[in-house]
Order: sequence, then C-alpha cells, then structure tokens
Amino acid sequence: MAEAGPPVCRSAAPRGAATTGLRTDPSLVQGLSCPDCGGARITRILLTLTDGTPVDFVSCQLCEYRAWRSADGALELDGVLSRARRERRSA
Ligand SMILES: [Zn+2]
Repeated sequence: MAEAGPPVCRSAAPRGAATTGLRTDPSLVQGLSCPDCGGARITRILLTLTDGTPVDFVSCQLCEYRAWRSADGALELDGVLSRARRERRSA
C-alpha cells in the first residue's frame, strides 16, 4: 500500500523545536584538550546543579578522564553529587 505524497524529511524540521534535555555543542570543545591523555575528543556539557550552581562537565572520549568545573575551579565529583542531591539530612 503506497502512501500519497513524498516522504517527509525530518531533517527539514524547523530549528529550535528540540530544546529538551542535555546536548553537547561541538563549538564548545574547540581548543580543549584532555589534561590526562592530551586528546582533543572532549565533550563539554554545561549544567546547572539543583542548588543553582553552574558547572561544566568535561569528559574525554579517548580515556576515562572526567572532570567537573565551576566558576570556582575544579570540583570533586563527590562534591558535585552531594550538591546535586536534593534531599537534606536533618542533623
Ligand atoms: Zn583523555
């Protein structure tokens, strides 16, 4: 059973329609190199923690290097996770 009309090309969809979720922008990784292996395959994702702290998540696709960075500098992963956690423990 053939459908009438040409097939819809999804790539022709208007831009700006998909803004959900996280996505990486290749333009953000220019000039960055992995401090561990020196590779240029760096993925950088801008995130905002639940407490409103803006951070960069940088990961290397060549090795397992990962780092969180904020305006204050490097963050420990544990620190980020604890910040991202919403629950509070009452002391
Ligand atoms: Zn690396």
